[in-house]
Amino acid sequence: MSQIIYKNYIAGKFQSSQNLFDDISPIDGSLVAKVAEASNSDVDKAVDAARNAFNGDWSNMPLKTRCDLLEKVALTIEKRFDDFVDAEVADTGKPVNQAKLIDIPRGAENFRFFSNYIKISKTESYEMQHEDGSKVINYSIRKPKGVIAIIAPWNLPLLLLTWKVAPALAAGNCIVAKPSEETPGTATLLAEVVDEVGFPDGVFNIVHGYGPKSTGEYLTKHHDIDAITFTGESATGSEIMKSAADGVKPVSFELGGKNAAIIFDDADFDAAIEGTLKSVFANCGQVCLCTERVYVHQSIYEKFLEKFKSEAEKITENWPQKESLDFGPLISKEHREKVLKAFSTAITDGGILEVGGGIPIFDDKRDSGSWIEPTIFTGLGEKSDLIKNEVFGPVCHVTPFESENEVLKKANDSKYGLAAAIWTKDINKAHLISSKLNVGVVWVNSWYLRDLRTPFGGMKLSGIGREGGQHSLDFYSELTNVCVKS
Ligand code: NAD
Repeated sequence: MSQIIYKNYIAGKFQSSQNLFDDISPIDGSLVAKVAEASNSDVDKAVDAARNAFNGDWSNMPLKTRCDLLEKVALTIEKRFDDFVDAEVADTGKPVNQAKLIDIPRGAENFRFFSNYIKISKTESYEMQHEDGSKVINYSIRKPKGVIAIIAPWNLPLLLLTWKVAPALAAGNCIVAKPSEETPGTATLLAEVVDEVGFPDGVFNIVHGYGPKSTGEYLTKHHDIDAITFTGESATGSEIMKSAADGVKPVSFELGGKNAAIIFDDADFDAAIEGTLKSVFANCGQVCLCTERVYVHQSIYEKFLEKFKSEAEKITENWPQKESLDFGPLISKEHREKVLKAFSTAITDGGILEVGGGIPIFDDKRDSGSWIEPTIFTGLGEKSDLIKNEVFGPVCHVTPFESENEVLKKANDSKYGLAAAIWTKDINKAHLISSKLNVGVVWVNSWYLRDLRTPFGGMKLSGIGREGGQHSLDFYSELTNVCVKS
């Protein structure tokens, strides 16, 4: 079979580059594709193309025509569903069923949702009386920002890229997007879809490459972009903020988390076990919303821990093609090194390894991949590294608590503030605790249920701004207030 090359998509054309880098499968270490690293001059061309398209057809295109194109993107992703699933699984190693149920349908849905939502989005209007007796009407007009730089991570590659691309385009912007160097596949397929659907050249550009001292850094420092939207690590967010500072570019950041699950003694026990297993181990723990701190009321702590451990031990590490929703590998061996280091630090700090902690042995090609065992720790103090810092792997620490005040204090004692899950049948308690948790998203008796209209994002080190519905449109547009005296 001929070697796949993932090319850049600039000004409506696929272009290779002098520098090709390897896209490696985390399943078995094999080569998935060669990827064209966009040079500085490629990024310049992409930004120029986006600027020209913005000044040309795109921002003046009737809203309905723009929305029809976005709807066609959704339909064409669905038409090429299997190609997208294969590319996502090859790059990430995630179970095929997960890509089929979550990543690809939600990627398509982002386009459909924003093509509909923009049509009903509102602006404000106020009437007032001037002191001379005349009427004054204020109304605001929404305008696209211009050229948006999009930097995306590897954990949900299509879903998180399209979560930015779709609202940015719906609001009338042009985009230059850099997918993660680990997961270039579905972004390249998306460029093929955009090409097939017939967007004006330059509206949508994909540039591949690394972050620091490469495509990502050059793009976010570019003088001719109007805003930066980024999902990834908090430390990277800090670097990108520095890049944005010179041009005072607006930033939208979705960053890391160290999310707590709180299980009260009146919770539906089985639902809490099932939900917490999902929230800790989904996508091999590589979701920003994953739970890494589990707090359980002391009256059910022993029972919970025993059942939670026995269920975690049943998780099987399958080839992704197996018809199960189990467990894939971590994204890379480098990431696995970081996760294993977090495990060894936890043990040095006095943590008790309850389940997992190592690398599974398969005696097949998976031994060349980046697999790791689902892992549970107990026994650590609240100041230890494992409780304080995001691991971004399939691991949690389980801690007993006695009172609501105590658990609230512990859950909030974090430099992050992304998400939390509460398990209780007492809805009044759920409302009260939710209002006191310093996070952007609280799930009650559930996890990862998403309504795309709702605000999504984090506090503190977990991000800046909110995405979703009106919140996305607010970032991707500027408001002009017009004040009319009659
Ligand atoms: P990362 O920060 O390493 O990389 C993300 C992207 O940034 C990649 O495309 C990378 O090439 C690019 N990048 C890196 N350094 C850069 C620089 N200096 N300038 C410009 N671009 C740069 O993150 P990751 O490892 O891909 O993703 C995992 C992290 O993302 C975790 O911390 C996770 O919590 C976070 N995340 C957050 C959310 C959210 O919605 N809050 C969602 C998913 C992932």
